[in-house]
Amino acid sequence: MPTFFFLPQEYPSYGPPAPPGGESDRRQTTMRIGIYEVHTVETGRFALDGGAMFGVVPKPLWEKTSPPDEKNRISLAARALLLQGGGRTVLIDTGNGGKFNEKLRSIYRIENGASDIVTSLARLGVTPEGVTDVILTHLHFDHAGGATTLVNGIAVPAFPRARYYVQAEHWRAAQVPTERDRASFFPDDFLPLRRGEVLQFTEGEGEVLPGITVRLVHGHTSALQCPVVSDGRTTLFYCADLVPTSSHVPLPWIMAYDLRPLVTLEEKRRLLAQAADERWIMFFEHDPALAAARLTRTDKGIVLGSPVPFE
Ligand SMILES: [Zn+2]
Repeated sequence: MPTFFFLPQEYPSYGPPAPPGGESDRRQTTMRIGIYEVHTVETGRFALDGGAMFGVVPKPLWEKTSPPDEKNRISLAARALLLQGGGRTVLIDTGNGGKFNEKLRSIYRIENGASDIVTSLARLGVTPEGVTDVILTHLHFDHAGGATTLVNGIAVPAFPRARYYVQAEHWRAAQVPTERDRASFFPDDFLPLRRGEVLQFTEGEGEVLPGITVRLVHGHTSALQCPVVSDGRTTLFYCADLVPTSSHVPLPWIMAYDLRPLVTLEEKRRLLAQAADERWIMFFEHDPALAAARLTRTDKGIVLGSPVPFE
């Protein structure tokens, strides 16, 4: 596969990804792909309008799998992924983070609780300083919110020794959102990444880190990068907002948030076919119950197949 962008020439090495320790729950991982141990990282729940989450799908259909609360919101996970191996500790997406004021916290029912990203990483023996790389699929707040944290009221990178990977095209779009998607971008989530060596722009599809490539989709927002972790035998596809929950596997189940829903439709048609044929593990960032599953072809199209256990 051609590589369209390059690794930094002198990539800083921070040594082993996690401090030594005997805690049994640090080794609860059930998945290894190539050089990486793969862990899910829960960053807390939140809730979005059910109608907006399912676009043109009528409520009697979506409420069966996603029961709404009294304000018509459905519960969502913000599930990051941690990869450890080859001297690296790589985080994919960062959840909502903790910078919300009370009004936004209430609108989006943000519940970091006992599973904010720092606490969840600590359970895996990882400190913020131990994270070497952060791949952000895109800069919407429920993906990039945890990329920065407040220190004395000022947003700074939450993983101070990490390099953050953001698609250049998406970065440019995030600077000039339209009135329709402006509410999804909070500059404090990403502008503080511009300083020093923190930010690494990626351009197009290709390898970002060993064993980790990205695929681009443009329907949800401009140049969303979906990481693909593969060793040639096992392939994990981090769906991000292309397929936010397992309920979104059917082709027309497309979020109303998407800027270009017909583009999403074609991107799903193409990528879900490849995923089914090549038995990819689909990782669902926002599904409240199911972290990962494979897909199956049936005479009614591609449907959710067997779950892939992560715990
Ligand atoms: Zn998004």
